[in-house]
Amino acid sequence: MKIEKVFLERKGQAMFNTEITESVLNSFLLEDEQFADVNSLSIGEKLILKIESIPEYLIPVKPYKNKVKNPLKIQVDILISFRQGDILSEYIRFKQPDPNGKKVNSDKIIIIAPKIEWAYMPKTKEQLIEWYKNKVDNKISGFESEIDFLSWYENNIKDSKCAYCGLSERDSQRLVHEGKLKSLRFPIYGTISSGVNRGYWLEIDRKIPTGYYSKGNCNPSCYFCNNDKSDVFTDSQYKEFYENRASFLRGLLILRDNKEVTGNGNLDPNNLIEQ
Ligand SMILES: [Zn+2]
Repeated sequence: MKIEKVFLERKGQAMFNTEITESVLNSFLLEDEQFADVNSLSIGEKLILKIESIPEYLIPVKPYKNKVKNPLKIQVDILISFRQGDILSEYIRFKQPDPNGKKVNSDKIIIIAPKIEWAYMPKTKEQLIEWYKNKVDNKISGFESEIDFLSWYENNIKDSKCAYCGLSERDSQRLVHEGKLKSLRFPIYGTISSGVNRGYWLEIDRKIPTGYYSKGNCNPSCYFCNNDKSDVFTDSQYKEFYENRASFLRGLLILRDNKEVTGNGNLDPNNLIEQ
């Protein structure tokens, strides 16, 4: 296995150096001083990343001010990403603990992820069981049992296509894996962590967002559609919205206005959309 030496320099001073292997996700604990250095980076500052076998890169620092909903989640503070043609795609993430100090899973960690060729990777059984248990705990599962859920997932979600846009799980995974689209919610080469687990797999969307997660109420949805649909639209509303966003939204207002003008109290935009 080939080993690369990696150096990170700031203002001519070495901030960090380590060795990475080609096919393994590397993570390293930063020393206090290194972490202080990372923390003191300012917006737009240039870092120089040197990888022994390729030329130097200047990396602009892009701070990511993550508004964490759940204070227990780890805050990803700075993301640096770069790529050189098709040869190498690297990401470096500095993670720091939640500023409220509630819980620290992985502080002072630098992750360097060398390019790993994409190969389809279904969700693991562990991921699925965790998902299922979470829904049971939150009393929103309509599945009979874990086994019932797992076999339904296998036949209806895994390796299928988004019910809204038709994107396959494989294509979605490849887009994310190869960094064609980037988000701090996307895992690096399929390595998931707290809050970093979207885009790689089709998601289980509820047709009626307020309903249970059940066989009848669930669709496979890509991250992009699910994020867009949110808890705002039912599946049929979303399909209509998807076709023509502005006209769908304006239509809701027209229906409401007509209702006001004609005084027809039976007009319910949600029902009319279904027709
Ligand atoms: Zn989709």
